[in-house]
Amino acid sequence: MRFSRVLRAGAAIAAASLALAACANPGGGGDSGDSGGEGTIRVGIKFDQPGMGQKQGENNYTGFDVELAKFIAKELGYEENQIEFKEAVSDDRETMLKNGDVEYIVGTYSITDERKEVVDFVGPYFIAHQDLLVRKDYPDLTKEELAKAKIKLCSVTGSTSAANVKQELAKNADLKEYKGYSQCVGALESKAVDALTTDDTILAGYAAQNEGKFKLLGLKLTDEHYGVGLPKDSDIKDKVKAAVQKWIDDGHWEEAAKKYLGPAGYEIPEPPTLED
Ligand code: GLU
Repeated sequence: MRFSRVLRAGAAIAAASLALAACANPGGGGDSGDSGGEGTIRVGIKFDQPGMGQKQGENNYTGFDVELAKFIAKELGYEENQIEFKEAVSDDRETMLKNGDVEYIVGTYSITDERKEVVDFVGPYFIAHQDLLVRKDYPDLTKEELAKAKIKLCSVTGSTSAANVKQELAKNADLKEYKGYSQCVGALESKAVDALTTDDTILAGYAAQNEGKFKLLGLKLTDEHYGVGLPKDSDIKDKVKAAVQKWIDDGHWEEAAKKYLGPAGYEIPEPPTLED
């Protein structure tokens, strides 16, 4: 896409000027330092989803999605310190990709037909399922009961989770929508809502982080096919697809799933077959 071309042109100019500098200055002294950002790649991830995408201090990002994001960058030729991670909250993802704010997003991003009209995906690299996180003492609930319940739910604007609640899963619910899921965790803790609903991957992370406080209902309400989000017609798409395939084939997928989802008690599935 437009930006990557600019980026590559920038990188080429930087490389050319470095070569020139080397010729002009055979002694090797007088290094002018880095060339000011051309050598970085901007990548969107989640910042507040433990186990999937979490910012844990300056330049410290962890999670299953973050591992994949780093691997893709490496395959594209970037060192880890050349990655500029940007927070991609659910509702901003399409806009960030369209505007060229990031080269790609790895952030519990479900592939949907609606989103495919605006952005491209490489995936699915993981299949999660929508579920409910409730306080430990909350009664269990079936999918049928949920469909009729006047329950207070919390989810995130622009997510498939919120859309599914409104369209089919819990039409009678009173739905509170925030920008990030961690805000819903606070609301659940303070009893402002009865449940937080989104993908079970994300919920398992919060349950593990708040040991003994919450439980997942295990309802498997939907299939969420996670994809790496790319701008339409991105010229890195083929390389990204090859990188994701390699991540799966070389066992990194399984390693990351065990490391980041295992401790949360998540039942790890088989890696899916890439389609897009
Ligand atoms: N996977 C769902 C989605 O893409 C929910 C998780 C999220 O908001 O990132 O909307």
